[in-house]
Amino acid sequence: MSILVYTESENGKFKKAALEVVSYAKAIADQMGTSVTAVTMNADNAESLGNYGASKVLSIKNEALGNFNAKAYASAIAEAAKQEGSKVVVVSSSADSKYLAPLLAVGLDAGYVSNVVEAPSSTAPFTVKRTAFTNKAFANTEITTDIKIVGLSNNSFGLVESGGTASVEDFAPSLPDSGVNVESVDKATDKVSIADAETVVSGGRGLKGPENWGMIEELAEVLGAATACSKPVSDLGWRPHSEHVGQTGKPVASNLYIAIGISGAIQHLAGINASKVKVVINTDSEAPFFKAADYGIVGDAFEVVPQLIEKLKAF
Ligand code: FAD
Repeated sequence: MSILVYTESENGKFKKAALEVVSYAKAIADQMGTSVTAVTMNADNAESLGNYGASKVLSIKNEALGNFNAKAYASAIAEAAKQEGSKVVVVSSSADSKYLAPLLAVGLDAGYVSNVVEAPSSTAPFTVKRTAFTNKAFANTEITTDIKIVGLSNNSFGLVESGGTASVEDFAPSLPDSGVNVESVDKATDKVSIADAETVVSGGRGLKGPENWGMIEELAEVLGAATACSKPVSDLGWRPHSEHVGQTGKPVASNLYIAIGISGAIQHLAGINASKVKVVINTDSEAPFFKAADYGIVGDAFEVVPQLIEKLKAF
């Protein structure tokens, strides 16, 4: 009756969110007096999950699961949960996991709560704390179904290394005919992904044009951060759509979010409210973003950002 965790990987390498969900599942397992089993999809180094608290890994190696396919992935994870007799399944809050979790909930006749930010305050009744109203409030939610699915918010729990080891077993689930072939369009790059990033440097229309993004990329590089942008910036084709954050873009739950030349419209803030520390650089002291900011610099990005880069490089 172990806790089952779905661990996401890209090109065989675990995403940071995968290590975080295993760490989180271990905290629940300790509370419930049980162990953690992880499911991996075409991932290398499955045994490394032992360091984050998994005792066992069910390793799936199947070319048909090379690209994300919600129906097939949900079916495989459900089969693993049934085999292990798991009453709790943990996934991340990535777009992929949010897509597959409801299908998994149907397959397991389970209750699913997303955007969870802490280990359960109690496991009987099973009560988790989640964000609500686009991260403006928290809600304590009890999951009353026999099987429970928890979607952990990225960067909310952190990584906990335990130095443990995991046994690895091959797992070959029967796959449904999904009817849909999904091809991944996100090219693998060396850049930090927005979902995994602890720091995000984001630019808005105040940067005037794509030719001015050099300083944003340089600041991100110095900080080891991901780059992001507001919606109009990607609509104008200054940056790829994969960088657009907000209500209609990607959610960001970084430790540090630096917004440069972004006004702070409610639709933008909806996507970044879960970030812990927000820094705003804007020429307009009345820009709404300053109300949501922890630190604000009223100034011209073209003067402030180069100085910031210089100081950080000298650090
Ligand atoms: P602007 O509003 O043009 O603001 C530019 C800012 O840069 C200003 O505050 C200005 O003072 C500042 N500035 C100018 N020059 C400088 C300089 N030299 N140095 C520093 N600062 C400078 N938006 C999103 O971002 N994400 C979403 O997901 C999203 N979803 C939406 C969904 C709907 C249904 C709708 C209606 C809108 C949505 N929007 C979204 C758009 C949103 O309402 C705003 O229009 C948008 O966020 C504004 O982008 P911006 O701040 O980059 O540009």
